[in-house]
Amino acid sequence: MAVCKHPSSKEYLNKYFHLMRMDDKTSIQQLKDKIKKYCDERDWDQFHNAKELSTALILEAAEILEPFRFKSEKEVEEFLNNSRNKEEVSEEMADVLYFLLRLSQRYDIDISEAFHRKMKKNEKRYPVEKAKGSNKKYNEL
Ligand SMILES: [Mg+2]
Repeated sequence: MAVCKHPSSKEYLNKYFHLMRMDDKTSIQQLKDKIKKYCDERDWDQFHNAKELSTALILEAAEILEPFRFKSEKEVEEFLNNSRNKEEVSEEMADVLYFLLRLSQRYDIDISEAFHRKMKKNEKRYPVEKAKGSNKKYNEL
């Protein structure tokens, strides 16, 4: 029997699942569930209100920026070509994701729905024919 080679076929996924990157096999809901379990076990709801989570989100976002400070564009590229540096940055990105997802989980916000809704808005604000190759803000296009 021939195995269907289409990447979305069940046979294909079963055969190559272990080779897929985590991004390809993890849903937003799985991440939110993991975060909820982690925080429930530690009884952290009491500390995780919207203000505290938003504050932590911004602080973690600043940690992504920190190693790039005073570096030229070329130096930043070189910095990220080093696997240890890239791993450090990826951990700060994970911290940002953690707080963003925790905020959406805590306040029952469907972040995927919000993302798609916002992208639809952005597509209208930045139509390809006007925005392609431009870094102008939507109200200046
Ligand atoms: Mg951090």
